Amino acid sequence: MSMVVLKEIDEVSLKNSGYIKQRQKDMFTVRLRVPCGNVTSEQLIGIGHIAKQFGGGYVHITTRQGVQIPNVNVNDLDNITEELQFNCTPPGSSGPHVRNIIACPGNHECTSGIIDTYGLGGMLDGEFFKEKMHVKMKFAVTGCPNGCAKPQANDFGVMGIIKCTINSEECSGCGICTDTCPDKAIILKNEKASIIWDRCKLCGKCAKACPSDAISEDFRGYKIFVGGKNGRNPKLGRELIEVTSSHEVVAIFRKIINWSKKNNLSRERVGDCIERIGFEKFKHDMLLQEGGT
Ligand code: SF4
Ligand code: SF4
Ligand code: SF4
Repeated sequence: MSMVVLKEIDEVSLKNSGYIKQRQKDMFTVRLRVPCGNVTSEQLIGIGHIAKQFGGGYVHITTRQGVQIPNVNVNDLDNITEELQFNCTPPGSSGPHVRNIIACPGNHECTSGIIDTYGLGGMLDGEFFKEKMHVKMKFAVTGCPNGCAKPQANDFGVMGIIKCTINSEECSGCGICTDTCPDKAIILKNEKASIIWDRCKLCGKCAKACPSDAISEDFRGYKIFVGGKNGRNPKLGRELIEVTSSHEVVAIFRKIINWSKKNNLSRERVGDCIERIGFEKFKHDMLLQEGGT
């Protein structure tokens, strides 16, 4: 990233690069690029020193896994930028751009995790972070249907999913899966288990619990949501497609981002744009030639 040259850059340009003007005269909050909310121990120590040297001696952890340093004087922006770049935690994104990509721990640490959330978050960060848009765009990656990273409350959400199949011949009728399923999506009939699909959230817990190995994974992949947001007029994102690879996830988001650039009105969030144009038409346009299920 090029250095900030204060005489040449106005406040809007500063904001777009993660320098947010505060209510106090000449003071800025510097927002950092922190994909998936992860920083190394060394980076964290560096951020602490930098906040002490140039800010108010503390950092603020944002609601979207971001880190920002408040109370930086406008005359220190060049120097703090240099230090942050050296620390490999450069200033981030604000304004009408793709914002910090957030992710839950997924299968790295969580026992419920289905997908590699950090790997996918890194791919999305590399492809989309800070891309110029008509309006802010937020991505969330969540490891399973518990949805801790709130994929339905972001413009673009991804969720790890597993579809299971029950082999009746192997099923002993023990009922462990019916007790295990958080959504009461498995019933026993004639001592054989079967899944009620419109209740199943695709978490895969039943397959792990079955003592007879009668439940197997049919499909492990990603469910994509689009059009969610918080704020003054919250909206839940809608399910668009299920795909099997992280590369397909990136490809479908590229398609949606390009569509959004063509169709969004100024300051219109993607969910509002989809509603104005019609979800079915949007879905049809997006899924042409896609290989989802
Ligand atoms: S969404 Fe699932 S994988 Fe991610 S933290 Fe929550 S329970 Fe774990
Ligand atoms: S846990 Fe397995 S064996 Fe027991 S009822 Fe369910 S599918 Fe059948
Ligand atoms: S995948 Fe999850 S929600 Fe679906 S039947 Fe199994 S335990 Fe229930």
